[in-house]
Amino acid sequence: MSDINEFRLAGTAVPKDPIGMLDEICEHFVEHAEVQRTGNLALLKSKVGDASIRVDGRLLLIELNCPTPQMLQMSRTMLAEHLFYFAGEDPLELSWAEQASLASLPNIHEATVVSTEVVTPHMQRVKFACADVTPFVGGDMHVRLLVPPKGREPVWPGIRQDGRVAWPEGEDELLVRVYTIRFVDVEKRELWVDFLQHPIAGIKTPGADFARDARPGDRVALVGPGGGSLPDASDMLFIGDESALPAIARIAAEMPEGTAMQAIIEVLDAGEEQPLPSAGNLTVRWLHRNAYPEGARNVLAAEATKAIAALDEESFVWAACEKDDIRTIRALLKSRGHDRKNMYVAWYWERDAS
Ligand SMILES: Cc1cc2nc3c(=O)[nH]c(=O)nc-3n(C[C@H](O)[C@H](O)[C@H](O)COP(=O)(O)OP(=O)(O)OC[C@H]3O[C@@H](n4cnc5c(N)ncnc54)[C@H](O)[C@@H]3O)c2cc1C
Repeated sequence: MSDINEFRLAGTAVPKDPIGMLDEICEHFVEHAEVQRTGNLALLKSKVGDASIRVDGRLLLIELNCPTPQMLQMSRTMLAEHLFYFAGEDPLELSWAEQASLASLPNIHEATVVSTEVVTPHMQRVKFACADVTPFVGGDMHVRLLVPPKGREPVWPGIRQDGRVAWPEGEDELLVRVYTIRFVDVEKRELWVDFLQHPIAGIKTPGADFARDARPGDRVALVGPGGGSLPDASDMLFIGDESALPAIARIAAEMPEGTAMQAIIEVLDAGEEQPLPSAGNLTVRWLHRNAYPEGARNVLAAEATKAIAALDEESFVWAACEKDDIRTIRALLKSRGHDRKNMYVAWYWERDAS
């Protein structure tokens, strides 16, 4: 544990299978933190702080150790949400030495729609005004967008005593979707989000519809930012589809001079291509889904496979797209023994999710 993490909190969980739960924690968090496992003890170290989790008989003894009180609250909520997710239908008790405040999430930011614009025929930009945009500058770039029901005064989530998020229910239920902050306009105090318009006949697409119908003055909240900060790399390969395009555009724009970048990006057709300005050297190969043979699947993953095979071990691989393609890419990187520190591999949506 590092000495600068001054804010501490102890917790106790009683899961059905403590060892199984510790295994799940380690397996999952290895994607997001440095994980050290020694027998019944797991140490997780990340930017938001450290967690020590130890099996003691039927109990999981937890100690959180964070640099700020906000990060402590966030770590507690993140861990609590995951523990209950891993428990599934099994019973789980979770308590903390200090009760969680029931008021509000520490990293929630209210925002208001300022304007919308069409970026390409299937990409709609929404600009939000936010009183304090500084948390969104640099660092992490993804948010959970919370949209209240149309015409109702928003009720934002609080925190339950066990640390989980207390979501408003019934008529106050929120739409929750994950997006990328495409650009932070510090002077105007605005945040831009680009929403892919992917309407599918007969299936609701509430996130995309929100962007299509957004009007100046509409109120939302953004929880975050989190996950997916700027890679520390001088040589990178991006692999993504339209859902990842805002993130790729932002990373490319923020990478310093001298960074060598190549990108394979799948979009519907040439009309969906976007300029990707960068101080580094970026070469983009656009794949057009409309030009694929009938029934073709996993074309992006196949192209990614070829590109990864030709990569240097030290190159950073940044990949985000549909779940099946990500599984293929992740397995390939694992079989190649690609260093975890040199990759960001995340699925951004799931085919036939409904
Ligand atoms: C970290 C992260 C960052 C993201 N950033 C962005 C971003 O900046 N911009 C952006 O547009 N998306 C982004 N996404 C993806 C976005 O969260 C999903 O696409 C989300 O499912 C859209 O919600 P929806 O309500 O429109 O559709 P849903 O209600 O989730 O799904 C409805 C139907 O649409 C299908 N579907 C969902 N997404 C897609 C898609 N991308 N292409 C084709 N079909 C789809 C589903 O399979 C389902 O059948 C991000 C996701 C993650 C995890």
